[in-house]
Amino acid sequence: MEFKSKLLNQAVTQMSSLPGVGKRTALRLVLHLLNKDQHEVEQFSNSFIKLKESIKFCNTCFNISDKEICDICSHPKRDSSIICIVQDIRDVIAIESTGQFFGKYHVLGGVISPMEGIGPEDLNISSLLTRIEKNSVKELIFGLPATMEGDTTNFFIYRKILDKEIKMSLISRGIGIGNQLEYIDEITLGKSIMNRSPYEINFSS
Ligand SMILES: [Zn+2]
Repeated sequence: MEFKSKLLNQAVTQMSSLPGVGKRTALRLVLHLLNKDQHEVEQFSNSFIKLKESIKFCNTCFNISDKEICDICSHPKRDSSIICIVQDIRDVIAIESTGQFFGKYHVLGGVISPMEGIGPEDLNISSLLTRIEKNSVKELIFGLPATMEGDTTNFFIYRKILDKEIKMSLISRGIGIGNQLEYIDEITLGKSIMNRSPYEINFSS
């Protein structure tokens, strides 16, 4: 899809670079923006520039934050002794929306995947281990996806803290293998956290 206007081409190309946005949708969105007045379009684009310039990642849990330490980490009523390990920020948002979890998080930024060349050093794992070392963490909840990569990552962390007296549990796998947390409805996800089971290694498999 090519347009006579270079400017339109440019805008549509930028819009369609977003995930899940095809050229047709991009054109519809661009034309929609074009119909708005100058001030509204400026507000729209400035919000992304400001987001990119000012957004921070929490120094402790790597959740997205407006401050050095996120609201969850600095909340006086959240339980620091329970840490839920998740793949990315979308999982924090999904679990938070259940209103069922009152511990804290640690966002790994991915999972170990030899196929994609992602090793433990590429993830926020050493900071997790330091966090466990420095704080009196009583329970780690593995909230990673139920995929081979998720399992590998769980096992890697499990081995690192095996000698510590920390309860390790797994979000209930009733949610189905391979499910991403963000796609699970809030009630099911809430139950999966409440009904978490002890993390066990089945060495026979
Ligand atoms: Zn935080």
